[in-house]
Amino acid sequence: MVPGHEIVGIVTAVGSNVSSFQKGERVGVGCIVGSCRDCEYCDDGKENYCANRAVTTYNGVDVDGTVTQGGYSSYIVVHQR
Ligand SMILES: [Zn+2]
Repeated sequence: MVPGHEIVGIVTAVGSNVSSFQKGERVGVGCIVGSCRDCEYCDDGKENYCANRAVTTYNGVDVDGTVTQGGYSSYIVVHQR
C-alpha cells in the first residue's frame, strides 16, 4: 500500500449503470472512495461525514473487507459518485 490519496487518471471502463463518465475521460478521485450513499450526510453530498463509515482511499477497509491500496496503484475501481 502506497498512500496516494489525490488520484488523477483516465477512465478505462464504466459499468452499465454509469451515466456521469465515459471511457477516455480524465477524472479525479479524492481521499474517500466509498460511503453508504444512503444516510442523511451522504444524501446531502457530505460523504466524509457518513454515519455508516466512509471508506478512505488508502489503508481503509472497503465493504468487501479488502484494504484500499491508494492512488499509486495501476488501476482503481470507484463508484461514479
Ligand atoms: Zn452515508
